Amino acid sequence: MSCCDQPGLMPVETALERLMALADAAPIAGSESLPLSQADGRVLAEPLIAGLDLPPWPNSAMDGYALCLADWTGEPLTVSQRIQAGNAPQPLQPGTCARIFTGAPLPDGADTVEMQENVQVGDDGRVTFLEPLRVGQNVRPQGQETRTGDAVLPAGTRLGPIELGLAASLGAAQLLVRRRARVAVLSTGDELVEPGQPLGPGQIYNSNRRLLMTWLQRLGCEVVDAGILVDDLDKTREALASLGDVDLILSTGGVSVGEADFLGVALREAGELALWKLAIKPGKPLTCGQFRGVPVIGLPGNPASTLVTFGLLARPYLLRRMGVTRVEPLGFPMPAGFTWSKPGKRREYLRARLQDGRVVPYPNQSSGVLRSAAWAEGIAEVLENSTLAEGDSLRFIPLSEILG
Ligand code: AMP
Ligand code: MG
Repeated sequence: MSCCDQPGLMPVETALERLMALADAAPIAGSESLPLSQADGRVLAEPLIAGLDLPPWPNSAMDGYALCLADWTGEPLTVSQRIQAGNAPQPLQPGTCARIFTGAPLPDGADTVEMQENVQVGDDGRVTFLEPLRVGQNVRPQGQETRTGDAVLPAGTRLGPIELGLAASLGAAQLLVRRRARVAVLSTGDELVEPGQPLGPGQIYNSNRRLLMTWLQRLGCEVVDAGILVDDLDKTREALASLGDVDLILSTGGVSVGEADFLGVALREAGELALWKLAIKPGKPLTCGQFRGVPVIGLPGNPASTLVTFGLLARPYLLRRMGVTRVEPLGFPMPAGFTWSKPGKRREYLRARLQDGRVVPYPNQSSGVLRSAAWAEGIAEVLENSTLAEGDSLRFIPLSEILG
């Protein structure tokens, strides 16, 4: 990782591009085969190839009657067999129809299904078709969804309920997935105390550790709890040295050029360090470096800054290293429900809600206020050097797009 210090503020796009380049240079190697029950949240290491047609045979989309429309004269038909889902039908006797139910295989010789609501069954059991029929109606042809050999999911897909359901539909019992990323979470600051402990003078509870550990678990990472690191150079060196077997060290706090920037000092000594001053608010300073070959990302300590910089920068970086194809969140243009009259030098990410179809920011956007994000439904992007009038469009990124 080369030093990227530069004068001025780094645009968010540049930071993202650089992080992507770093990620591409350090993919997390290795894969394992897992049963579907253990594959939620993991990343597919190879394409999922269909081993069969879906559906495997033509079947009925309705409860009704199957017939061969090509041979039908328009007369009422007798019912020659009854076919339920799970049955293996006989070929259709010429000049008859078959009682058939949803999902049941179409008998050989039949090409059409009429729904039961559109027939009349006479006292003699013969079936009169009341509506005009069209060849192939209510039939799901073999291979309609998928053909044998189709690449149904590409490598790099993150597996969730839908993908796992799809894999199950193809009979896949195991999937080859990428190895989990091992990520260490380090919280720096003399002032930090874990919940459950009494607060001393000048102390605050550590919120970033829980925020990031929970988030990383959701991203499918193996999380190493590196605890709280006091603001001390020797302790910082020791802590970093003890984390040699992880794929990423993610720290919070101590990344500004303040006097307590021990992380920066330790990284400069034993590795590489880039301190990026990002054109982003909240969250200006971001450290990007490595310690004895282990990549380190240092996020700003204010919890709302941690949220925004992890969600918009570190998360895509990490997903990319995990082999995920789509790493950036979807955002949608939405009308502003507020005005923005003072253009800023930094791009602002407001914790905001949608009210009556408009973006409404939480009143207190201070970078220390995590409550803003708990209230919010998404992050609204106000571009640098721009103003907004009510109704002007801005990008709204739902929190659900970045939290998983
Ligand atoms: P720093 O980047 O270390 O100067 O921290 C910036 C602000 O974030 C300070 O007010 C810190 O007390 C606060 N902060 C740093 N780390 C955490 C944390 N893990 N949890 C909550 N607040 C923090
Ligand atoms: Mg600090």
